[in-house]
Amino acid sequence: MFKFGVVINLDMQNKIEEILNKSNFDKTDLVSLLNANDSDTELIFKKAAQVKSEFIGNSTYFRGLIELSNVCTKNCFYCGIRKSNTNVKRYTVTDDEVLQTVKYALDRDWGSVVIQSGERQDSAFVNRIENLLTKIRSLSSQKIGVTLSLGEQSVETYEKWLNAGATRYLVRIETSNEELFYKIHPKDNLHNFELRKKALLDLKKTGYMTGTGVMIGLPFQTIEDLADDLLFMKEYDIDMCGMGPYIEHEDTPLFEYKDLLMPVDERFKLTLKMIAVLRILMKDVNIASATALQAINPDGREEGIRCGANVIMPNITPVKYHESYNLYKGKPQIVAETDEYIRQLELQIAEAGDTVGYGKLGDPIHFEKRKKEDR
Ligand code: SAM
Ligand code: SF4
Repeated sequence: MFKFGVVINLDMQNKIEEILNKSNFDKTDLVSLLNANDSDTELIFKKAAQVKSEFIGNSTYFRGLIELSNVCTKNCFYCGIRKSNTNVKRYTVTDDEVLQTVKYALDRDWGSVVIQSGERQDSAFVNRIENLLTKIRSLSSQKIGVTLSLGEQSVETYEKWLNAGATRYLVRIETSNEELFYKIHPKDNLHNFELRKKALLDLKKTGYMTGTGVMIGLPFQTIEDLADDLLFMKEYDIDMCGMGPYIEHEDTPLFEYKDLLMPVDERFKLTLKMIAVLRILMKDVNIASATALQAINPDGREEGIRCGANVIMPNITPVKYHESYNLYKGKPQIVAETDEYIRQLELQIAEAGDTVGYGKLGDPIHFEKRKKEDR
């Protein structure tokens, strides 16, 4: 019996090695990689680390994350700050506070900030962001890159914000399976799968470095769905990716399916596998090691770096707002990622074989190549 087990394991290992040696993967290959057992997963992580080192080098970039506001017009079934959650104390960070956090990132040579918020499309919001971007540009003399994660907007708005200084934009597709998309979102004009996909195309056309991502371990989600998500990212030829485990929040409609979820440590492992397989599939994109990984395991984001990610987004939102940007249970509320915390993070990044890319924008190499090919 034992020998038989060893033979099966060796066969599986050979199969994973065979797939990893291919120059491209089809859906069956991706499913096999995502289903790999723990020892085969180490082979996948090793390959992802090699690819990362060869194609983008061993720099990890810090992006200071500013959670600008939890005011949201949408009602995604999974999100703790959805419009209908009356248990949330709504807030908006002031311009002065944002500029202080940008200065914090500038003083530490981080090279980049991410502004994230609940979704609003009204003109007061659009104009405020435009003004804020102009102020950031003059404060930083363009030494700091600005990524936006402000949801779906019109092409005019994307253009306005690009002209005011933003260069990167993240819109997670959440899942590339339309049926699953409507299980985790209301089916109405505000939550529309086609429009979510169109946002990615509009952003690319407008000239942004464009990022997307998915949640991993959603109720009803299969390994085949996740393989399709990876193929979706390849097909949309994205420049950046931020994906993380789905973590349930008791004040949301999706919470009723909590008993269908795989254990959190399985979601954690699957997220690391998704990061590693994406790195092998799309060699020169930027991949963020999501905050939600850290919610499950204190060293989660560093693990992500070991498996192929090259971006970490320390939260620099003023501390008084942290508990109100409660997307999911157990979201880490670490004190503005203090200098001591950053030193620890640097050490862990060094243990993962990387150094911090201080003073560099860290734009995705994929975008630079994509632009050259477009010319
Ligand atoms: N409102 C913008 C949007 O939805 O694109 C940006 C902010 S939204 C809070 C950023 C991301 O948080 C979403 O794309 C979603 O993937 C993630 N998120 C929300 N609720 C989550 C949960 N319960 N577990 C894990 N990630 C979650
Ligand atoms: Fe709003 Fe984004 Fe949360 Fe959806 S995921 S409810 S759009 S903040």
